[in-house]
Amino acid sequence: MYLIEIYKSVQGESSFAGRPCIFVRLAGCNLRCSWCDSEYTFKGGYNLTEDEVVDEIEKLAPAKLVEFTGGEPLLQDRELIPLMERLLAAGYELMIETSGERPLDRVPPSVHKIVDVKCPGSGEGGSFRMSNLEYLTKSDEVKFVIANRDDYEFARAFIREHALEASVGSVLLSPAFTKAPSTARSTENCMLDPRELVEWMLADGLDARLSLQIHKYIWEPQKKGV
Ligand code: SF4
Repeated sequence: MYLIEIYKSVQGESSFAGRPCIFVRLAGCNLRCSWCDSEYTFKGGYNLTEDEVVDEIEKLAPAKLVEFTGGEPLLQDRELIPLMERLLAAGYELMIETSGERPLDRVPPSVHKIVDVKCPGSGEGGSFRMSNLEYLTKSDEVKFVIANRDDYEFARAFIREHALEASVGSVLLSPAFTKAPSTARSTENCMLDPRELVEWMLADGLDARLSLQIHKYIWEPQKKGV
């Protein structure tokens, strides 16, 4: 399995935000989102066996929440799925952050799936695999990264068309973050002011959750491995 990093921090996004979490960041991505903050995952990485990954995770105990992220972790599903099954059997709580472009059918149902449906402003709109909708449950979350009003309207239409407010645990709306942030730990680095996004959500009565990437406010936004 090709990895970029394994580290412990607090979960920065989703309804798990603020909880201690071990992050396993896999190498490689098949998309190229315009605002991507993880381009360093596109190439390279180091190869570890399943046993070596488990050893690294165990060294970071006692955290019991583990997130697989990337890049796109499901590009390595042949190695990842057995690893997930092993960690679940050992009592870990697992999350996966994925674009939803890869099939979700083999992800064990008890893994919390955080699925990032790409909006038009990402440059990867339309990449979501619609057949994945049937594998989303109340323990999963769907995220939309919003760069502008067009993205918001796309997200609102998608949420309503697929009744996501009722079918998944949380619908997350996250203001896009600029690719070249200042060192300020503030919303000035957001491409869309969170206040504006909240006003739109309230005006529409959208039962979604504003999701700020809290690690970018706890540490300087460029800092990796946090
Ligand atoms: S899917 Fe994620 S890692 Fe891949 S380009 Fe988009 S934001 Fe970056």
